[in-house]
Amino acid sequence: MKQRNTLIPTLREIPADAEIKSHQLLLRAGYIRQNASGIYSFLPLGKKVLKKVEEIVREELDAIGAAELLMPALQPSELWKESGRWGTYGPELMRMNDRHAREFALGATHEEMITSIIRDEIKSYKRLPLTLYQIQTKYRDEKRPRFGLLRGREFVMKDAYSFHSSAESLDETYEEIFQAYTNIFTRCGLNFRAVIADSGAMGGKDTHEFMVLSEVGEDTIAYSDESSYAANIEMAEVMESYSYSDEEQKEIQKVSTPEIKTIEDVAAFLHTEKENCIKSLLFKVDEEFVLVLSRGDHEINDIKVKNFLNADTVELASAEEMNEIIGCEAGSIGPCTLDGKIKIVADHAIKYIRNGIAGANENGQHLLNVNPERDFTVEAYGDLRFIQEGDPSPDGQGTILFAKGIEVGHVFKLGTRYSDSMNSTYLDENGRSQSIIMGCYGIGVSRTLAAVAEQFNDENGLVWPTNLSPYDVHLIPINMKDDHQSALAHELYDGLKNNRFDVLMDDRAERPGVKFADSDLIGLPVRVTVGKKASEGIVEVKVRKTGEMLEVHKDELLATLTDLLTSQSK
Ligand code: ATP
Ligand code: MG
Repeated sequence: MKQRNTLIPTLREIPADAEIKSHQLLLRAGYIRQNASGIYSFLPLGKKVLKKVEEIVREELDAIGAAELLMPALQPSELWKESGRWGTYGPELMRMNDRHAREFALGATHEEMITSIIRDEIKSYKRLPLTLYQIQTKYRDEKRPRFGLLRGREFVMKDAYSFHSSAESLDETYEEIFQAYTNIFTRCGLNFRAVIADSGAMGGKDTHEFMVLSEVGEDTIAYSDESSYAANIEMAEVMESYSYSDEEQKEIQKVSTPEIKTIEDVAAFLHTEKENCIKSLLFKVDEEFVLVLSRGDHEINDIKVKNFLNADTVELASAEEMNEIIGCEAGSIGPCTLDGKIKIVADHAIKYIRNGIAGANENGQHLLNVNPERDFTVEAYGDLRFIQEGDPSPDGQGTILFAKGIEVGHVFKLGTRYSDSMNSTYLDENGRSQSIIMGCYGIGVSRTLAAVAEQFNDENGLVWPTNLSPYDVHLIPINMKDDHQSALAHELYDGLKNNRFDVLMDDRAERPGVKFADSDLIGLPVRVTVGKKASEGIVEVKVRKTGEMLEVHKDELLATLTDLLTSQSK
């Protein structure tokens, strides 16, 4: 490709609203442009990388016998009503009407669509198992679109769905896809880890996320310093490894704590540690109010609360609701005096509190020497808090540490969540009707591109791994008006192309400094500069990643480039 025939609008300045490296560089190097919040065009370079990621995904999925299909983005609301998600998916689902006022959604995901196809086409156990996938544009009206392609409102996803007549068959496919994902992210050169995850709105059981380790990741991974244990902190189990105190239970006592709102303030004011305080949060769980207790130095995990109470939605009660139900502000809520009035559940650690401190359910008042069971009744104890660094690893080996991750892939065992609600059944060997067992598997293709850009760059620009680089070679004639240079550049351009190198030639009438700066920004693995020694047939080769430079005669160029590119792709 000649640069004058394509569109690579590079920028010298860092765009003001781009916070992270990958977003800045993809904009500056002319790979993408934003069209609206969370909505991007892939310019020619961006599109080429996207295609390369897609090809890796396709190769690895085709290799395990998954078949590609393409489903529509526009989906009738009836399907989402059948599954129940028209109601539960919330404002992230983009909804619209057609000219006949029929409701549609722009697909945020395709469980409903694929299930509707399969229930019509698969009727017998003989057709199972089956794995189908697509690479397609998804729409999610994210609350906070940000970081460029990492969290868009329109983005490219690979979504795969598998169909089975037994749990064992699902396990097998899950394993195969897990391995295919490992191959895909390895081929993309990413530093990643598969972690235990929460199934969220999908409603599955067994699930893992593939996380690229990165400071800009929005997810936190809890991992053991001694074993292979790794989980999203949303899910990481906390072991009940506390011990009872033999301190005598003292008499409860009310104290005035004016203007004290946070646990930190309470602990400081009463000269104690946060772990002696009982944190009490009022949640609205589906339609019921529930008081959830944790130790003052712990954080309640609403996903665990949701799973523990088997609820669809869990949200913190508003200040008005707290006032109405308990009669005080958030900072003064506590479990005593609420017995019987409101359901109380507590994290395991609460059981072990002796002579603790809790809100008195009166503004500006706290209670000292509060003891569980003596002073309040807990309906159920569970693992309701976030794991913390320093906690024992849930597999019993080592201690938990945290790392930040970007979720690039997600694999779920769905079971019969969708086939039950949407009535997708097959006849088994005995002629009995059974629900099809399903798995679903996503990869954020455009997010993966951004994650690679985030990992592979330096102060001058992007530094693509050879597998994903939009072109193999950047050919730069310093002066196109010089006959020797122009002739040699065209000769090399044709020769490289004929030998299956993908070449970008900078045929613009720009100053050398501009061409070199743009070339570094764009980040192709090797640059070939045709300059003063063109008349001798000599060019300069520079490796983007290492800065290594060598002079090469044109007759040796093919061999040199082959060597450099293959050694880098290892
Ligand atoms: P997240 O927790 O980041 O919102 P999710 O759990 O909603 O992700 P899934 O529904 O599992 O994501 O979607 C499959 C994959 O699609 C994710 O693993 C991720 O790589 C990608 N993805 C999800 N949301 C976005 C988005 N807004 N922009 C880009 N990629 C996304
Ligand atoms: Mg999401």
